[in-house]
Amino acid sequence: MSSIFSKIVKGEIPADIVYQDDLVTAFRDINPAAPVHILVVPNKEIATADDLADEDEALAGHLLLTARRIAREQGIADRGYRLIVNCKADGGQEVPHLHLHLIGGRPLGSMVKRQA
Ligand code: AMP
Repeated sequence: MSSIFSKIVKGEIPADIVYQDDLVTAFRDINPAAPVHILVVPNKEIATADDLADEDEALAGHLLLTARRIAREQGIADRGYRLIVNCKADGGQEVPHLHLHLIGGRPLGSMVKRQA
């Protein structure tokens, strides 16, 4: 079954796409956590970071460099931003299609809430 992000990649459901090439697609998160919240996804369906194969090395690098370029275009690179890849249940991954969150535009605080 096609993931919701695959449908966005193929243009089958609408999204606010900010960048697309042969390998990756970037679009605004529907429920943004900050003024800039963009998801960068591989066009091919890879369920989780744990499913990346050796042959995906260039693709994984391209995801990261695409996020870096978009951060510059969005004007958040100088002050900084956060890149997050949630993986599987304990990682808090909800959509089973690998995606890199690019989040910024405000101070984001510490990375992970520590348990009391
Ligand atoms: P994760 O918890 O890492 O799997 O994050 C999934 C993200 O996808 C969440 O931040 C959602 O708000 C976002 N999301 C879910 N459906 C859509 C959609 N149709 N368009 C854009 N973002 C979405």
